[in-house]
Order: sequence, then structure tokens, then C-alpha cells
Amino acid sequence: MNRKQKRPSILLLYTGGTIGMIRHPETGSLIPFDFSNIKKIFPELNRIPAEISVHSFENPVDSSDIRPDHWVQIVSIIKEFYNQYDGFVILHGTDTMSYTASALSFLLENLNKPVILTGSQLPIGTLRTDGKENLITAIEIASARDKNRQSLIQEVCIYFEYKLFRGNRTIKYHSEHFNAFTSPNYPLLAEAGIEIKFNHQYLLPVRKKKPVFHTSLENDIMILHLFPGFSRKITESILLIVGLKALVLLTYGTGNAPLLPWFDDFLLKLKQKKILVVNVTQCKRGSVDQTRYETGRHLESCGVLSAGDMTLEATVTKLMFLFGQPLSYQEIKRKFTQNLCGERSV
Ligand code: ASP
Repeated sequence: MNRKQKRPSILLLYTGGTIGMIRHPETGSLIPFDFSNIKKIFPELNRIPAEISVHSFENPVDSSDIRPDHWVQIVSIIKEFYNQYDGFVILHGTDTMSYTASALSFLLENLNKPVILTGSQLPIGTLRTDGKENLITAIEIASARDKNRQSLIQEVCIYFEYKLFRGNRTIKYHSEHFNAFTSPNYPLLAEAGIEIKFNHQYLLPVRKKKPVFHTSLENDIMILHLFPGFSRKITESILLIVGLKALVLLTYGTGNAPLLPWFDDFLLKLKQKKILVVNVTQCKRGSVDQTRYETGRHLESCGVLSAGDMTLEATVTKLMFLFGQPLSYQEIKRKFTQNLCGERSV
């Protein structure tokens, strides 16, 4: 084997977003460039010690336009090329990157290769871009191997601004800063300085089972964000929604909601209809504990399931994934409260 063949092979997939845009010479607005030209626009890519192939969505999208069928498209591409590449780097708009990373973590079951999402706040062609560092380091991380030449990372991650996060633990929390992502309830997987320092103890353990590539998702899911005085009329209208599978309650503090008889009746009616209700806290850090206060306990007794310390992004995509599988209502409930791929603490 020659030296070149030994280099890790990485598939770079451009789905859209700021990183792959340039300014229109006349209007000055951002438009996507032909990503197959990335090595011309960004020749430094040729200096990375990896064999990099570039693939792009036929119609790259701003990540506000990302839909479940795009996630299925990504899964299908990874499945098609899974045996040909050592790792995958996905370039994606930042706005919904945490949803995509969370969805992929469920859809790519028993993943044993790195899938690293990254993007940037400024296009890669601009002088002060954050895209170059994000892209170069994401590729380096996807190429990293242990002493047995196995991929060091075997899960879906987001790399952004010197930090590697477990994808399904992230939220985008800043709309302007380069430091745009955080992982409120799980430590960093790695930090890039002069060297890339991996926190091995926080990585997902190696899975021995064969990867499974899921492609089915259910999107008849709703979020109800509570606020003092939320309306009975509006809330009860949810009972009329045909086909609703699950309702995510965004509650206060450790998972609390007002002690209103009509609200408990509403929750019990949802339970009767087998519409799953889950409890996510509005707080950015910490977790739901439905046993701490009476205002949480009544939710528990109405059949509401705690989302623990899962992010809203992970909760929603986990429900989309579970309701997309051929599982009974009881199995969905059981799996929702389990830790499937590092998305919640036990
Ligand atoms: N609106 C863009 C997107 O999410 C922002 C970005 O790429 O950072 O696609």
C-alpha cells in the first residue's frame, strides 16, 4: 500500500448554508456557489492529509428550509458511501444544525464512523471567515484514528469554533457570535487549540452491532410553550387536531406547570387518545424532575413523560424518529425515556 492510500478518506457533503455562499458581485447579497469548485476557492483543502471527495445537494438550502426528507437524503448518501469512506463531514447552515445533528444521531443507529457537521457564520470566501478553521478542523477530527487505526469518533457531532460537541446535545444559542453553539448538559468531546484534545471518557463507546440506516420519520408533532395565563381556548383546540402523535410541553423550571383542573383534564384526554405528551423545561440548562414539586407531580399523574435533560431539538427529533418506526405506543413510551445514543443522561 502506498502512502496516499493510507490517508483517511473523507466525504464532504454540502447541504447549503452560509459557509458555501459568496457575495453577488452586483447586488452584494449572499448566493450559493458551485460547491464542486470548493478546492479552487479554498486551495488549502489540498494540504490536509486526507483524501477528500466533495458531494453537494443538487439544490443546496438555507437550513431554515431543511425538512425530514433532507435528513433522509443525507442518510441515503451516507449509506451509499459508508464502506468507501472513513468519515463524513456535512456542511450545513447553522440555524437548524442542532436539529439535523439530533435527527441523524437517531437515524444512523450503531454508527461506527464519524459524522461531523459544521458550517460558519461568515462565508468561506470572506476575509474574516470562521468557515476555514471550522472546515479544516472538522476534517481533521473526522480523520482522527486511535492506535488500532479505528476512527476515534464514532458518533454524530457538531464542530464549531474550536469545540467538538455531541450533536444531539447541542443548541444554537447565539445568532451573531462565531461561538454560536453550546451543549448545556453534556461536556465537550474535544477542544482544538495548538492540538486537538479529545475527552475520551465522554465519547460514545464502540458499538459492535452493524449500522442500521433508518429513513422513516413522523412529523405530526406539536410544541406548546407555556407562559403565565396561557389560554384554555387555544390549548383545548389541540384536541381537535386530527393525526396528532405527540405534544411537547415546554414547562417552567424543573418541569412545572400550573395546577389547573381544566389543564389536567386536557392532558388526560390526550392520554386517552394515545397522544404522547412529554415535558421539556424552558430552562436552557438542567433537567426535568416531575417529582420535585406538586406542580410537576400532577403532570406525572396525567401520564406526561419527562424528557430529562434532553434538548428540545433532541426531544422533537427523537419523537419524529420513534413515531416513524413500526413500534407500539407502549414501546415508543419506553424508548422515549431510554438513552438511545447519548442524547439523555440516565
Ligand atoms: N441562515 C443560514 C442557515 O442556517 C445561516 C448559516 O448558515 O449560518 O442556512
